[in-house]
Order: sequence, then C-alpha cells, then structure tokens
Amino acid sequence: MPAKPQLRNIDPEDEAQLLATIDRWVDREVRPIARAYDHADRYPTETVEQMKELGLFGATIAQEHGGLGLPAGTYAKIVMRISRDWMAITGIFNSHLMLALAIEKFGTKPQREAWLSKLASGEVRGGLALTEPDAGTDLQGIRTTARRDGDHYVINGTKTWISNGIEGSCFALLVKTDPEASPRHKGMGLFIAPKQKGFTVGRKLEKLGYKSIDSGELIFQDYRLPADHLIGGEEGQGFYQATGGLELGRLNVAARGVGVAEGALQLATAYAQVRKTFGKPICEHQAIQLKLGEMATRARAARLLTLDAAAAFDRGERCDMEAGMAKYFASEAALENSIESLRIHGGYGYSKEFDVERLYRDAPLMCIGEGTNEMQRMLIAKQWIKRNPVS
Ligand SMILES: Cc1cc2nc3c(=O)[nH]c(=O)nc-3n(C[C@H](O)[C@H](O)[C@H](O)COP(=O)(O)OP(=O)(O)OC[C@H]3O[C@@H](n4cnc5c(N)ncnc54)[C@H](O)[C@@H]3O)c2cc1C
Repeated sequence: MPAKPQLRNIDPEDEAQLLATIDRWVDREVRPIARAYDHADRYPTETVEQMKELGLFGATIAQEHGGLGLPAGTYAKIVMRISRDWMAITGIFNSHLMLALAIEKFGTKPQREAWLSKLASGEVRGGLALTEPDAGTDLQGIRTTARRDGDHYVINGTKTWISNGIEGSCFALLVKTDPEASPRHKGMGLFIAPKQKGFTVGRKLEKLGYKSIDSGELIFQDYRLPADHLIGGEEGQGFYQATGGLELGRLNVAARGVGVAEGALQLATAYAQVRKTFGKPICEHQAIQLKLGEMATRARAARLLTLDAAAAFDRGERCDMEAGMAKYFASEAALENSIESLRIHGGYGYSKEFDVERLYRDAPLMCIGEGTNEMQRMLIAKQWIKRNPVS
C-alpha cells in the first residue's frame, strides 16, 4: 500500500533558525568556492559532506524515516537561498529527493523501510533516470525494457542526462515492462536501481553551465533486479509514479529560478552603485533604473508565485497548475535577470572574474528541466480551461 500523504507544517521560529543556519553555511562554505569549482567543473565532495550534516539529503523525507520532514514552503526557501549563490549544487539533493519521493509516495512498506533512512542520511545518493537519447518530453516513447525472468527482471537500455549519474549510487529507473501496451503508459514500470553488475556509467556530459554536478549516461546490459525493486510492486504504474512527484519537482525548479533571479539582481544592485560613468553611479542613469526596476519586480513576483504554490501544496490542495506557473515564470525570470545583470556589468559581465557569467550560463537549464517551458504553458492552459468551463 502506498503511504498516505501527511500534511506538514513547521513552527515559524524553527524555520527562521534553519534558514539562518543555511545562510551561515552559504556565506562561509558555498559562496567562497563556487566560482573556482564551477570553472574547474570539479565535484564538490566536501560540500556534499556538509549537506549530509545539514540534513539536506533528507529535507523532504518524513521524520519517521530519518528525514527533516520539511514542508514544501520551507524547502523552497532553502533552495532559493542556496541558488542565489550557486544553483548547481541544489541539484545534488533536489534530484535525489525526487527518487526518495517516488519511494515514499508509491513504494511498498518494505521498500520504504529498506531505502528511505539510507537516502535521508545521504549514505545512498542518486536521482531520477527517465530521459533517453530519443525520449525526453515524450517519456512514453522510452525504449529501455524490463523482461520478467522468474522472480527477477532483466533490464536493457540507455538513459542520458541523468543528474548525479556518476557520483550517485541508486536511481529511480523508468522502463517498459510491456513495450506493446496501448495506451503506452500502461506498459511502464519504475524500479529502484542500485549500481551493480549490468549497470555501467557511460560518459560524463559536457554542459554550458550547471557545472560541478555530474550529468551522466547510464547503460543497462542484462541488468538483473529482484522483482521486489519494482516500486509499488505492480506493473503499469511507472509513468504515473515518475510524474507523480511533478508538483514538488516543479516547485524545486521554480525555487532555483527565484534564487538565480535574486542572485542576478543582488549582483547588479551592488555593481550599479559603485560603477561610475559621466560622473555618477550608473544606478542614477534612467536606462539602468528601468532594468533594475524590472528585475526587482520579476524576482519578487517569481518568489511570491513559488511560495503561493508551495503553500497550496502544504495545505494538501491540488496545485499542478500553480506549481507550473511558478516554474515557468521563475525560470524565465532567472534567464531575463541574468542577461540584464550581465549587461549592467558592461564588459565585466563577460569576464570570468565576475560571478554573473555563471548565473547567465546556469539560468537556461530551469527552462528545460521538469517539463520544458513550451510544455509548461500548454499544461497551464489546459488546466486553466478545465477549471473555467463555459457554463
Ligand atoms: C543539465 C540537465 C540535467 C538533466 N537531468 C535529468 C535527470 O536527472 N533525469 C532525467 O531523467 N532527465 C534529466 N534531464 C533531461 C531533461 O528532463 C530533458 O532534456 C527534457 O525533458 C527535454 O527533453 P529533450 O531534451 O529530449 O527534448 P525534446 O523532448 O526532444 O524537446 C525538444 C523541443 O521540442 C519541444 N517540444 C517537445 N514536445 C512538444 C510538444 N508536444 N509541443 C510543443 N513543443 C514540444 C520542447 O519544449 C523542446 O523545445 C536533464 C537535462 C539537462 C540538460
């Protein structure tokens, strides 16, 4: 039986304390290393150890399984704060928590007991393995298959773009258990897939931004998994399970977008007050004020949309459209604010000695992940029309 969702809340004082701890950690440990690690595309091993101590790998996992059991609103604020300084590292625990969510929400009791505490401590780390070379948006078009063989499944196929694919050790793996099924989603399953014989890592993918976190290709060749690794224990549920965490997934990406939009604004605000042209700080020129005014408004609107969707999630309300709006708006805000911040920095915006170029390279990812913004707007429109029928 899947676990019943539990409504979560947090005492405002506890939340403030937790966010202050995150702030101190970002100030002391994250901001000082972000530029060098990003430029070297180096995996932040020590940062990961600190994230374990902070409990981030169990942030949204229930306390009974060793997690912090945070509401979505608090979690979103944590992601915003870190993303202002280094968005990429939030992917190390974001994608991992999507794996945990699939097990917590849809797994059997033995699956929850076997995996969640190890995921919460960060002893086991991983992510979601859905995308394939020929199927991203159209997930029902995947080709990886799982064939039943006694009390095992034999899995063959390739996944690509998998966050934490190289450093992680366990993934929620989407497969076809019946490639001929119609409709296609009825033939899909989601497995808990630890690295072992038959599961190899292909190449590490080179990217425009989102550096330091590993994006890998995963190859499955006669990879044998005991049948009790099928999440929920029933075939045909995989598509529903893989997309069943979409509200929290969209909130994750929205919060990252807010962080980048705010980070870009902060950098521009500071720079515009110290850089002088024609005898005055550039923030006193109207052209720069127009940009700052738009950037500040976008960042605030993105934050409010995201917290509004998270609050609906925490009240247990349906919020796929609200989370989609937040994801769409906040990711576009990140993109627009990062380019405007770069322009405000003039030639220095183009320099690798300033941080704004990293935000500019990182921002487009949020428009792609968790449902591209093209799809997002169509989904928002469909839901909007459904909720507003002509009587
Ligand atoms: C850095 C990075 C990390 C990632 N991490 C993960 C991960 O951890 N796990 C994972 O499984 N995947 C991951 N992905 C993959 C990501 O989820 C996919 O890239 C995304 O879903 C889009 O799929 P695609 O790249 O195949 O594009 P496609 O699906 O081929 O889309 C191409 C274009 O067509 C548009 N399009 C597609 N269908 C329609 C339609 N019906 N109507 C209108 N427009 C349409 C899209 O919006 C897009 O603009 C990651 C990707 C990146 C870049």
